Amino acid sequence: MRRLWMLVGLAVLAAACTDEKTPLAPTAVATPTPPVPIPSLPTTVPGVLTIALPISVDDAPISGAGMTPFGFHSAGHAETGHTGWDFDLRAGAPVRAAAAGIILEVNTDQASGRFTVQIEHVAGNHFYRTIYSSLATLASADIAAGESVIAGQLLGTAAGVSHFQLDDFEYYRDIPAPNAVSPEPFLSAAARGQLDHIWSRAVFAEELVEPFLTNPRDLLFPASRTWTRAGGDGPAGIRFIRPSARAAEYNYELLAESGTVIEAGTVAINIATKPYPLIALTSPTAVRLGLYDVVSNEMRLALGLPGLPRPTDIATASIYRTR
Ligand SMILES: [Zn+2]
Repeated sequence: MRRLWMLVGLAVLAAACTDEKTPLAPTAVATPTPPVPIPSLPTTVPGVLTIALPISVDDAPISGAGMTPFGFHSAGHAETGHTGWDFDLRAGAPVRAAAAGIILEVNTDQASGRFTVQIEHVAGNHFYRTIYSSLATLASADIAAGESVIAGQLLGTAAGVSHFQLDDFEYYRDIPAPNAVSPEPFLSAAARGQLDHIWSRAVFAEELVEPFLTNPRDLLFPASRTWTRAGGDGPAGIRFIRPSARAAEYNYELLAESGTVIEAGTVAINIATKPYPLIALTSPTAVRLGLYDVVSNEMRLALGLPGLPRPTDIATASIYRTR
């Protein structure tokens, strides 16, 4: 029985960075009037660039990780944070410029032979850079330093997972990749819809306790996330707790309306099951079996009573929300 369960897994992921704050939503900016002020760093000036997704929704997988979020999450990014988003793509999927700009650099990784393209973007008096890594091919000889690209222009094709990063030069942290910010607040409305589509089909062990898509870089352990019932007749609240950055297990606490902990124990999940992940909450006195589904800040949780079989569908789920 135990072997059927995958304890909440912490995938070991490559890569790199940290973030203390995320920008406010992009705002329209008037044509700048000279002289252009040079902001001192760090600033809290919100970003103004609008970006598209660098990939097509149809090239993203419909299951599995699908996408690796920005910031501090899972074991591989637990110490350093992640400087962008990784999209799982079919090999050969097109990767496109997220906005118009000038190519700053095209690099080739000597070991893998894969390409990284960096593009500079200027919006008003704000300077940005987008980075597209792990490309198997470049689209043409015009994908080279100094060349201009239009938004949506084909840069190359993906080898598989493709890293996308946005640097906002008004943000700075004294860490590697000091300007990297979450791309999320910069998305166009269309890109936001596409991203939500990808996101709604992706399943992550970590989403029980992490905000995702845009994780903070100052996430401290034990990390926890409290979900409050918004509908249904399940427990009034449930808190998931990740004890440490590299812990393979989560803990849980069931909460009464008052916030009092009424039960505590360990969590096992199996995210590979379709259409919904399985969850088991084990306390010293009881095991509760259930199904769940998390999309953004809402979780549907169909949790059986102690000792009863797992609910067979999620139609009976209670709705939980988290900030
Ligand atoms: Zn990455």
